[in-house]
Amino acid sequence: MSDRELYCDTCEGVQPFEAPPCPDGHGVDCPELLCTGCGAAVLIATFAFQPAHLADRRRRPSAGRHAA
Ligand SMILES: [Zn+2]
Ligand SMILES: [Zn+2]
Repeated sequence: MSDRELYCDTCEGVQPFEAPPCPDGHGVDCPELLCTGCGAAVLIATFAFQPAHLADRRRRPSAGRHAA
């Protein structure tokens, strides 16, 4: 159980959020959190950008042809 405090629009204030049971098997990495005040779900997607960024950087175009 990992609680975090985030701003909830519905509650109009900072509320403790908790990760719901994830049907997709994300476990602790699940980007979904539930507001314990009103039950609204929010999606935390910020960290999802990083893996794509790193993968992109690895694909460098090779500089020229190989000399056979
Ligand atoms: Zn999930
Ligand atoms: Zn709320």
